[in-house]
Amino acid sequence: MTRTATRTTPDGDFLHVWGSKTFGSGLRVLDDVDLSVPRGSVTVLIGPSGSGKTTLLRAVALLAPLDTGCVLLDGRLHGYREAGDGHRVLPERELVRARLGVGMVFQNFNLFPHRTALQNVMLAPVKTLRRPRAEVEEEARALLRRVGLGDRTDNYPAQLSGGQQQRVAIARALAMRPKVMLFDEPTSALDPEMVHEVLGAMKELAESGMTMLIASHEMGFAREVADRVVFMDGGRIVEQGEPEQFFTGTVGPRVREFLDKIL
Ligand code: ADP
Repeated sequence: MTRTATRTTPDGDFLHVWGSKTFGSGLRVLDDVDLSVPRGSVTVLIGPSGSGKTTLLRAVALLAPLDTGCVLLDGRLHGYREAGDGHRVLPERELVRARLGVGMVFQNFNLFPHRTALQNVMLAPVKTLRRPRAEVEEEARALLRRVGLGDRTDNYPAQLSGGQQQRVAIARALAMRPKVMLFDEPTSALDPEMVHEVLGAMKELAESGMTMLIASHEMGFAREVADRVVFMDGGRIVEQGEPEQFFTGTVGPRVREFLDKIL
């Protein structure tokens, strides 16, 4: 089927990404993937290291656009313009704007070290969106309260635990009012006792109706919160289904082998 920008996403599909990506050495890191994420749903990506999860998230976030294929977000081309039969990536200047619709939370928080929690959350809405400072501050304080950090607004990242820093990172992404939130192994750099507080903030976000795409091996979280689990291997989507399916053994041997290692 020829896919064009005028095509609407299937019923309820809010985010749809398809295509391939090859890195310089000829390594096909995304091999004809096709992933749909319905509005307000939570999809958890699992798979061995190097299977392409980060690359897929970065493609959706337009940090490393696909070579072929493209991304539809809310029924519109996201970061691409249509050129003849194929799609072309927007020029960098326009990509910067397109990226704003997607919030991304990374493994290593990536907070600005010389800014407080509140300043980290306020920075992009004030500088990039040019929203009024007072309004942004009120919203930023509310977001920090929402992730359980109402009393930490004036702390610098170094004064916060890893779990607290990651919750600031979540508040910071939300401050841009994204249409979708992406998480790349958000708890894998955390000490075990801090994992649950970050997963708790993510669960609350899921319950609020945010559309979420999460690379994570937290299968307990997937079982409790995810609507879909997607297994990637070698740059391909090998299997996808409801979380229960991944726990009840009705999965193929590659998935079984992977789950046996992590569970
Ligand atoms: P995962 O998140 O599942 O661990 P990644 O998407 O990070 O997988 O990586 C998939 C493959 O792409 C790996 O083999 C990795 O080494 C390779 N890769 C990732 N980024 C680059 C890059 N910028 N240049 C070359 N190869 C890369």
